[in-house]
Amino acid sequence: MYKKALEKAIASLHSEGRYRVFADIIRHKGNFPNATYHRPGGTDEIVVWCSNDYLAMGQHPVVLQAMHEAIDTVGAGSGGTRNIAGTTHYHIELETELADLHGKEAALLFTSGYIANDATLSTLVKIFPGLVILSDELNHASMIEGIKRGGGSKQIWKHNDLADLEERLKALPYDQPKLIAFESVYSMDGDIAPIGAICDLAEKYNAMTYLDEVHAVGLYGPRGGGIGERDGVMHRVDIIEGTLAKGFGLMGGYIVSSATMVDVIRSYAPGFIFTTSLAPVLAAGATASIRHLKTSQVERAQHQERAAVLKRKLAAAGLPVMPSVCHIVPVLVGDPVICKQISDELLNDFKIYVQPINFPTVPRGTERLRFTPGPAHTDEQIDDLVKALSTIWKRRDLKLAA
Ligand SMILES: *Cc1c(COP(=O)(O)O)cnc(C)c1O
Repeated sequence: MYKKALEKAIASLHSEGRYRVFADIIRHKGNFPNATYHRPGGTDEIVVWCSNDYLAMGQHPVVLQAMHEAIDTVGAGSGGTRNIAGTTHYHIELETELADLHGKEAALLFTSGYIANDATLSTLVKIFPGLVILSDELNHASMIEGIKRGGGSKQIWKHNDLADLEERLKALPYDQPKLIAFESVYSMDGDIAPIGAICDLAEKYNAMTYLDEVHAVGLYGPRGGGIGERDGVMHRVDIIEGTLAKGFGLMGGYIVSSATMVDVIRSYAPGFIFTTSLAPVLAAGATASIRHLKTSQVERAQHQERAAVLKRKLAAAGLPVMPSVCHIVPVLVGDPVICKQISDELLNDFKIYVQPINFPTVPRGTERLRFTPGPAHTDEQIDDLVKALSTIWKRRDLKLAA
């Protein structure tokens, strides 16, 4: 009986074409985006086109140096939860660095961005009884999960739609606690929220704001503070959430906010309290990465330039590249089975690795390939990619852009 249920669950994924297969790869330090792919029965040398280590900070000498020093100083793990022996000076330094990055009073580390969202959003409703969370319809799974687990009242507003958001805010009593939860860069479509205008509405209707800057920290703003910094509105957002795993190239998540807000989440969120803190070596690497990106513009400039080149060349080849105003380059396929097949063909025939993006990550019918060019992708690798896609599109007689 139990075995049947398990098998049925997997079979339904297969029949919908969205059974996930993980590619077993080893990235080459000093030589990303090149990697070795361990396929059944052998290995291939491949080019990675879907990493979230956007700036290749995961191989930056400054980061590696800091991590080597830390492991030689304190050893491997942190040895405990933050409350019980697991707060090292590396954690404190990193939180200070993050608070400064976003111009906030305090920061709080979590073991991932997912946990930061889940733990914070599920805890807020305990602090503000009657809290209504107004959540953008395209918010990441970690925010949705946190809001659901909190068990409070929620409203889903139309993606980036200020009129819909205002209508909902207006309908709620002025004194009822409200939180607007949204992202800056939406990483599947590559569009960006009007943060300032959302803050205007929050002020007008007495709401707090919660902004996920996971796909923007390190990448945007003169010091890598994200879209909020780029747009000069960072100070207006109540809680900013970010990751150390994407632009900064490591692992871990965080929030920054007022000292009191951080003190409350630190004291009440089980997802923060009852888990071992980040390994000090990760904290040391993250601090080095953030410090580097606070002053260096080179990585950000190259990143944007590479993304622009890829978009231009895909469009010139008539491939259905979706509109994106950032570094994300999605190409529409619109069918989960074909999307997976194209990804397999790219890997097996062209040694190009891009994971298919299917439901529930994106709505059904909008399945896509999502390319993340980085500073280290060469012109030749871009040309190879465009050529490979053109070949597959022709071979399969797929629709080209108008
Ligand atoms: C990746 C992601 C997260 C989770 O961050 P991790 O550090 O990888 O757990 C949160 N929010 C968004 C929008 C993301 O894309």
